Amino acid sequence: MAVENLNEPSNSEETPAAAKPARARSRKTAAAAPPAQPTTNSGSATLFGIAPYQMQAGEEYMSDAQMVHFRRILEAWKADLMQEVDRTVNYMQDESAALPDVNDRATQEEEFAIELRTRDRERKLIRKIEQSIQAIDDGDYGYCETCGIEIGLRRLEARPTATQCIDCKTLAEIKEKQNHG
Ligand SMILES: [Zn+2]
Repeated sequence: MAVENLNEPSNSEETPAAAKPARARSRKTAAAAPPAQPTTNSGSATLFGIAPYQMQAGEEYMSDAQMVHFRRILEAWKADLMQEVDRTVNYMQDESAALPDVNDRATQEEEFAIELRTRDRERKLIRKIEQSIQAIDDGDYGYCETCGIEIGLRRLEARPTATQCIDCKTLAEIKEKQNHG
């Protein structure tokens, strides 16, 4: 019953492109990767042109077709992020070519620091995506690593790198807040 409304267009709160406020908040506390990159792919109900998976009647959870679907999403996402990293590197190389005065240099160093942080975040996200692809290879994808239940297609569409069900994730975030706040 958890997956029966998958056929509806997922313009609800769960699409990766449209990060809702609750998700944006959890981004700050959790080390988990943000579902939507700040620079690309905003405003679309599909992720990288890949429509949400349409479950067939009687289809099992994490069927081969579903694995293929999520692998496509993860690989498209990874490719997109790698491009973003390349752009950052190119930008920094171009920008550092000419440095007329000290003030410009200071501003630029600040900009570069931000760029480097962004790139670092992207690299971590790429690693997470690679782990998810590995999980598909291993047949572990789509199941909560904490309690073992099905993470669910809807949640995975919204957050393809999710390794926990929503309950375990929520609990982990509460614990994290208690430890750090
Ligand atoms: Zn769980």
